[in-house]
Amino acid sequence: MSGGFVFSEKPIQIESGDGAYLYDTKGTEYLDFGASYAVTPLGHSHPAVTEAIQEQAETLTYVQASYPVEVRTELYEKLAALAPGDIENVWLCNSGTEANEAAMKFARAATGRSKIVATKRGFHGRTMGALAMTWKDKYKKPFEPLAGGVEFVPYGDGEALAEAVDDETAAFFVEPVQGEGGIHPATTEYLQHAREVTDEAGAALVFDEIQTGVGRTGNLWACEGVGVEPDILTSAKGIANGLPLGATLVKDWIADNPGDHGSTFSGGPVVCAAANATLDTIVDEDVPAHAAHVGEYLRSELEAAAETHDLPVREVRGSGLMIGIQIKRGANRVLKNLALSEQVLALPAGRTVVRLLPPLTIDESHADQFVESFAEVLG
Ligand SMILES: *Cc1c(COP(=O)(O)O)cnc(C)c1O
Repeated sequence: MSGGFVFSEKPIQIESGDGAYLYDTKGTEYLDFGASYAVTPLGHSHPAVTEAIQEQAETLTYVQASYPVEVRTELYEKLAALAPGDIENVWLCNSGTEANEAAMKFARAATGRSKIVATKRGFHGRTMGALAMTWKDKYKKPFEPLAGGVEFVPYGDGEALAEAVDDETAAFFVEPVQGEGGIHPATTEYLQHAREVTDEAGAALVFDEIQTGVGRTGNLWACEGVGVEPDILTSAKGIANGLPLGATLVKDWIADNPGDHGSTFSGGPVVCAAANATLDTIVDEDVPAHAAHVGEYLRSELEAAAETHDLPVREVRGSGLMIGIQIKRGANRVLKNLALSEQVLALPAGRTVVRLLPPLTIDESHADQFVESFAEVLG
């Protein structure tokens, strides 16, 4: 297993998936409340997405982005229409970290400045530029030196932000809800303040919505929930329901001077077809509102179970179906027991947080199944 030197593999061999469930080679059914890091908002093997992929693969698998192709043009237009406010320009790539690399480059080219401000506990990816904006030393130390000019401020501290963002700042990068850092939602005031501070300094406000976007927090984009419009919004993870796609969505003043950027695989037709089907389904079926409703139910059931069974839970937080359960013990052991004795999959976010990013299409019965299993393991 040659990937083993990078990934520590789990003792479950997955063979297929259907909706909120994964199946291993022995036919055991697992409730998937991690969705492989929010990558399948519509659940596994969603028929509309599968059909779109099949049809496109039979018609045209790939042609470079400088030849217009209907399916790609459709995605450009769809994303421009769905993007918040006046964001009209779309750059496509293959992953979250690449979407953030592009955002960094575009912001530097458009402002003619180099300094980047990012947040403590933040996560923006693992390539050399995005990694430089990522907080945890564990991810960075062996690979230094990284891209220079990044200053970190405490997440949620308006004063520190106002001090750090100055007339040399190209951009402030922030997650509306920190994911990897432990599921910490920003306040509306903080994000509004970030908008004012960056406007005043002539810097770009970049929302990294790679985890929060595509309906996850109960709005299509988390920034809609707080009424703040960034200059750049980055998306990836769930945007094509499992195929690799990243998007950097930018306002005109950024797009007017993007520098020279490119990528061979930008906007491949098969991936675009999957994204079109994913976004159409999410919008047509109002999946974000559903996620808001089920998320609220799940959070309140978790709190009630913690109380009733006197579980070692400190806090349940998050929004929509992006939920962190801060527990009074190590998350990894709990997650292992959940998987092996209850056939329920979830994720960690740091040492003591159990992170839930289930498909947005789950219903209350899936939420009940999770809460019952969680109480069983933790109790
Ligand atoms: C996952 C993630 C990334 C990196 O995305 P990759 O596709 O793994 O490169 C960046 N920012 C946030 C907020 C993420 O959750």
